[in-house]
Amino acid sequence: MSDCIFCKIIAGKIPCETVYEDDQVLAFKDITPKAQTHLLVVPKKHIVNLGSVQDDEWPLVQAVLKSIKKIAEQQNLAGYRVITNNGEKGGQEVFHMHWHILAGDKLPGF
Ligand code: AMP
Ligand code: ZN
Repeated sequence: MSDCIFCKIIAGKIPCETVYEDDQVLAFKDITPKAQTHLLVVPKKHIVNLGSVQDDEWPLVQAVLKSIKKIAEQQNLAGYRVITNNGEKGGQEVFHMHWHILAGDKLPGF
């Protein structure tokens, strides 16, 4: 997707602070952190959001979730919250599926 900001990050056309990468997944620091630790985990393949996942793409979602576990261990996170916003009405602003990892002392409860 040529006009997708996360595809551009994956392609190396826009810089990011990478914290994890494998053949299917990239994770980087959120540019506007909403918590002490705020990371974004994205599949390298352009998928709009969870609601648009096709049957043959579930292994990729699993790879994203497995990488979240790995990243949390690598970053020594004592605890963390995982959020994926779906659709404009779900608060999604970037339409390339991404999973927020939020961690730190001042996480708001909800
Ligand atoms: P969402 O509202 O779930 O779509 O979240 C999009 C997130 O992407 C926000 O938390 C933004 O701060 C973050 N973001 C947007 N552009 C960039 C960028 N170039 N690098 C890192 N994070 C970004
Ligand atoms: Zn994309």
